[in-house]
Amino acid sequence: EAVTAALDAIEAKEKKVNSFVTVDREGALKRAEEVQKMIDDGTLTGPLAGVPVAIKDNMCTKDLLTTCSSKILYNFKPTYTAEAVENLEKAGAVIIGKTNMDEFAMGSTTETSAYGATKNPWNEAHVPGGSSGGSCAAVAAEECSYALGSDTGGSIRQPSSFCGVTGIKPTYGTVSRYGLIAYGSSLDQIGPIAKDVTDCATILEAIASYDKKDSTSIARDDLKFTDALVDDVKGLKIGIPRDYFGEGLDPEVKEAVLNAAKVLEEKGAVVEEFDLSLVEYAIPAYYVIACAEASSNLARFDGVKYGYRAKEYEGLHNMYKKTRSEGFGTEVKRRIMLGSFVLSSGYYDAYYLKALRTKALIKKAFDEAFAKYDVILGPAAPTTAPKLGESLSDPIKMYLGDIYTISVNLAGLPGISLPCGKDSNGLPIGLQLIGDCFKEKKIIRAAYAFE
Ligand code: GLN
Repeated sequence: EAVTAALDAIEAKEKKVNSFVTVDREGALKRAEEVQKMIDDGTLTGPLAGVPVAIKDNMCTKDLLTTCSSKILYNFKPTYTAEAVENLEKAGAVIIGKTNMDEFAMGSTTETSAYGATKNPWNEAHVPGGSSGGSCAAVAAEECSYALGSDTGGSIRQPSSFCGVTGIKPTYGTVSRYGLIAYGSSLDQIGPIAKDVTDCATILEAIASYDKKDSTSIARDDLKFTDALVDDVKGLKIGIPRDYFGEGLDPEVKEAVLNAAKVLEEKGAVVEEFDLSLVEYAIPAYYVIACAEASSNLARFDGVKYGYRAKEYEGLHNMYKKTRSEGFGTEVKRRIMLGSFVLSSGYYDAYYLKALRTKALIKKAFDEAFAKYDVILGPAAPTTAPKLGESLSDPIKMYLGDIYTISVNLAGLPGISLPCGKDSNGLPIGLQLIGDCFKEKKIIRAAYAFE
């Protein structure tokens, strides 16, 4: 029933919202029947059994189209399934389709997709955020019960905030990246997107696992995230970075986020302001590191091994060149060029190495903050969802919108974004709670108490 309801919702809303690149109607119905049988005969139990999930289109799904919303992977059907998705399948999840995203997860609006922009279900003239905009819009439009996204620099938290849903970016290494098509490998993490923190904690518990196929996977023994779903924040120390509330922050977002802090204070949390001064360096450091890694990761798309190949060419080099020129979109090309530049000899020390040093200093600043606070509270994004088309014309402005999310990836920390109000246009506002490494439970607890 849940699967049919999701498919009906897709039928009714998809033309307007465009959350999906692929809807696997037949596959989902067949799988739902199999799962139902297992539920009936008692071989499958648990909260995710038979529940329809949408998967961001940068996670490999065996025999199911996986495009990264790029022309270059327009026909790519992987021969294996990403570990996180496989974990969900073991829990009885039913994959309903693959969601739209910014091409190769590069963007903040889901407008760089080769398959058309996704619209914000709250107001179709606005973007859903990105890059996991399809996943967040699908949850908001009830086209699925929950979704998986990936977060390299905010791509779960920022679209969650724009679409009024809840999303968690776990500590780096908690969810296996095996089968996640890499953007910035040292920053990428898969995480859940759902209607509330209870669902997110349940899903995170199912997808988190130690995986020796991912060399950065961490063996943790504290993965029972649902234990943190208790309505008690007495004595919890919450730090509010002054630097997060300065210039560029929309006054309505500021008010809603500070109100959320008050709610938690009234429930017994100890709230205090502090300085987290290095944030201004986070954007340049992130874009140098992410583009550098992307330029290397995307070298594999050459028309030989996967996907698209140019129709006409003369010789091998010309085939590479034409395939990549025709297969990648503008934003992806911009980042490959930027990344190749910062890694090239003569510039490596001045840009890439400096960015890595900045990353280390940002981590240190967070370490000092977490010596004093359990949770850091702030906005997920400086504004609510912008109108479609506004960001594409001004990439620098779009990059600046990542100010509150990217330092979390640079430091490898867990972060959650959850709804904390609406602006005067009725668009959702997102609250971000950041925890120290491996302290997902603290942010889940604070989020649960706030909800
Ligand atoms: N907006 C950021 C970028 O464009 C973050 C994207 C992401 O987290 N995948 O790189």
